[in-house]
Amino acid sequence: MTARIFVASRNAKKIAEMERILAPLVPGVRVLGLDDVDFYEEPVEDAPTFEGNALLKARAGFAATGLPSVSDDSGLCVDALNGMPGVLSARWGGRPKSDQRNNELLLDQLNDVPDERRGAHFACAIAFVFGDGPDGEIVVEGRMDGRVIRELRGEGGFGYDVMFVADDTPDGRTSAELTVAEKDAISHRGKAMRELGPRIAKVLG
Ligand code: IMP
Repeated sequence: MTARIFVASRNAKKIAEMERILAPLVPGVRVLGLDDVDFYEEPVEDAPTFEGNALLKARAGFAATGLPSVSDDSGLCVDALNGMPGVLSARWGGRPKSDQRNNELLLDQLNDVPDERRGAHFACAIAFVFGDGPDGEIVVEGRMDGRVIRELRGEGGFGYDVMFVADDTPDGRTSAELTVAEKDAISHRGKAMRELGPRIAKVLG
């Protein structure tokens, strides 16, 4: 039987990343996104933490679809900005959200920050909600450390990947210059999904 999981997101690249990582862990899994289910009012992401936002999105998805629901909340936390943009990453450059505007604004804000103080990390929390109450919820977290460079490079990935070089990429390629397998192996989402995958498989039986 095909297990169906709902991912409360319209970000096709993020959904693809999650499906790719889940596929070997939950054989036959089919991942549905917001565009595959009936419209419902998405909650405002107003929690102060990645965990809080991931939970509120996954709870709303489960309530609306009745399907086991996964939600990722993630962002880039820059040391020189005291951890910002953090939970505000998606709309850092204003509305409507635009990766290009976010990237250009961040480059500009960090213009005078010297190389040795350009540390940053991607963080994510992924919530899996499959029932009511705490017994029907699992939350995992992942992190990828690195630094923000002074230019935009690469065609892959999404969001801030074009300006981020991970500590685990010693040749200096940005996350947008990695193959999907290379990014999954070191990324915040890859780490969190590898922890969550076997737990999802167990719940889905
Ligand atoms: P969310 O979809 O509300 O969780 O927003 C996450 C935002 O953080 C996205 O719009 C991206 O800008 C950024 N982000 C999260 N994960 C990544 C990643 O793996 N690469 C690049 N940017 C990311």
